[in-house]
Amino acid sequence: MKILPVRKIHTIVLGSGAAGLAAAVRLSAEGVPDIAILTEGVRLGTSVNAGSDKQTYYKLGICGREADSPRDLALTYLRGGSADPLIALTEAAGSARAFFHLVNLGVPFPHNRFGEYVGYKTDHDPFRRATSCGPYTSREMCRALLRRVKNEEIPIFENRSAVKLATYAAADGTRRLCGLLALNTADGVLEPYCCENLVFAVGGPGGLYEASVYPSSQFGAIGLALEIGAAAASLPESQFGLASVTDISKREVRSDPICDRPESFRWNVSGTYMQVLPRFVSTEPDGVSGAREFLRDYRVALGEINSLVFLKGYQWPFDARKLPDGSSMVDMAVFYETAVLGRRVFLDYRTDPADFSFEALDSEAREYLRKSDALLATPLARLAKMNPGAVELYRDHGIDLAAEPLEIALCAQHNNGGLKGTIWYESENVPHLFPIGEVNGSHGVTRPGGSALNAGQVGAFRAAQYIARRYSGWSLDWTAAEKELAAEASRLAEYPERAASQTGDDWRKERAAFQCRMTRSAGHLRHGGEIGEALRLLTGRRRAARPLSAPPAETPTADIPPADAAEIFRNRQLLIAQEAYLSALSASFDAGSRGSALVLDPRGEPIHPKFPGSWRIKPEDPRFRDRILITRYSDESDSFLSCWRPLPDLPEDEEWFENVWRDYRSGTVFD
Ligand SMILES: Cc1cc2nc3c(=O)[nH]c(=O)nc-3n(C[C@H](O)[C@H](O)[C@H](O)COP(=O)(O)OP(=O)(O)OC[C@H]3O[C@@H](n4cnc5c(N)ncnc54)[C@H](O)[C@@H]3O)c2cc1C
Repeated sequence: MKILPVRKIHTIVLGSGAAGLAAAVRLSAEGVPDIAILTEGVRLGTSVNAGSDKQTYYKLGICGREADSPRDLALTYLRGGSADPLIALTEAAGSARAFFHLVNLGVPFPHNRFGEYVGYKTDHDPFRRATSCGPYTSREMCRALLRRVKNEEIPIFENRSAVKLATYAAADGTRRLCGLLALNTADGVLEPYCCENLVFAVGGPGGLYEASVYPSSQFGAIGLALEIGAAAASLPESQFGLASVTDISKREVRSDPICDRPESFRWNVSGTYMQVLPRFVSTEPDGVSGAREFLRDYRVALGEINSLVFLKGYQWPFDARKLPDGSSMVDMAVFYETAVLGRRVFLDYRTDPADFSFEALDSEAREYLRKSDALLATPLARLAKMNPGAVELYRDHGIDLAAEPLEIALCAQHNNGGLKGTIWYESENVPHLFPIGEVNGSHGVTRPGGSALNAGQVGAFRAAQYIARRYSGWSLDWTAAEKELAAEASRLAEYPERAASQTGDDWRKERAAFQCRMTRSAGHLRHGGEIGEALRLLTGRRRAARPLSAPPAETPTADIPPADAAEIFRNRQLLIAQEAYLSALSASFDAGSRGSALVLDPRGEPIHPKFPGSWRIKPEDPRFRDRILITRYSDESDSFLSCWRPLPDLPEDEEWFENVWRDYRSGTVFD
């Protein structure tokens, strides 16, 4: 593989989702010289390609009579437990500024004729803090931010896939970040970049699970930072929920000026998609034979299960507390059919579930449908009445709900955890690395829907401010940095060829195997034995594969096309990430079942007689809500280690204007 000479850029933003683009805009506004965006592509990633029936942006309440404050907002963030109060306050305090920045850039958040940004309540939200531009809020944000990036003439290098981060040992003994290696996926050349700062905005770990509602172009790259020893927080706290996963690669899809053409259309089936009460059907793997309505197995009265399906509309994420009697039974049943029985599950909107009657529903569901004028003959008629855009959305992606059922699965959607940053979004142990957006693990066990987008914008502001005040010059030891990059480049230049010849496996097969393992044993359902076994396998594999990163003993054989080389590198970092996640998951069992995770325990409560006998719920231990799980790679043990760290209190409201003014003028606020 050809290696280009080292290129120097003062501050690199890696990734061009809503967080990365915002960071570039803010760095430019703060006057940081010489910035550039490196990205796999501006049409790729979650922000540009994902959405939901009303994609939510969560912010400080600024409408009506409900008084709100950053501290109240921070308390809401902290409610689910295991969230860092200092970060919660930071994200709450920066919320209004970040929101109005987007408004000023032209993101069409709706306001009334007096200019009030009227909000609505979202999940885990006691106020009306949520707002939305419709199904594609994060895409609207990217569009507006990208316009500004272009106006500011900030260079964007597309088709660059980062494959390794580089560090060297600084005088104080810490390993500081000094650059990265990127594969140019257009020509297969390896490009070393030296940088003073890296804003790491690579998004969530979309490539970890087989059942996933992350867009098919989003894999994430957290493994690169975990590999260099960056500390992570709350990795086990992910969100899972029901989503459609239809393969649309051969369908007529209406073109969109900005987004990627994904292979499968993945979309949360939340809100009205559930409230209209579709039929849940499972089939053999061919998608046709052996069709049956499986939800009937779980409740004697059909009205009862339909009422739970209705609740799923606004209780979208799988929630360990909503079992065995609540709406999470629906998720469990879908998971059992797909991951355990190997069947496929579909929502059919064309006819009602067998023996359906409005009278059998509980009063909440019946009243809702009645008030919506939706006591109509089929789920599709109800959907068309209550939310015509929801039908249209699938039609835009070549899926006609009137003609075919919709394939679904219980999917990974968001990771609340990620890299552990300071209140300035610098990695807490790798100086000059700034994880922002979903790759920063700033949320706890739960988060109010929409706070991911706020977190990414606030992180972008904070990192840019800090870089401008503290790291705007060059402090890099060039010789050390260039030496490190050259060594990494020569170690990795032949990696794809050697990996392919040593494992003998196609990268697709390898990926399918590890994604499947994650969905089966480390998704919403966590089985200690299986996780331990998978972890031992991965650690053993990584240690045995060490020679892969040593200089080649002999010239490798065939050249690998750039697109395949990128995928092989991607598997490398995904496997590192998987090892870190599994290690964190094992360490999290003491906390019990919480958030979107169900920990299995032979002494726990059974869920339903139909499920395997081992599916018994370990209850939550609430003491762990005041602690945060920190995970990082340890050189000494050559493995990932995790520990529970006690959380600090929310800082006292001790601010006196004159003191703050003094600290601000002297710059000590940035300490
Ligand atoms: C279906 C769905 C619905 C959601 N709904 C909501 C919601 O209503 N409200 C909310 O707040 N959040 C929601 N989220 C979460 C939210 O959309 C994401 O957390 C957020 O968009 C992530 O933004 P980001 O900028 O961090 O990452 P992304 O937008 O994913 O961007 C990551 C970027 O990094 C690039 N990249 C990745 N790896 C590399 C590499 N190795 N080299 C170079 N570039 C790389 C990618 O190509 C991409 O450009 C939803 C997510 C999903 C999947």
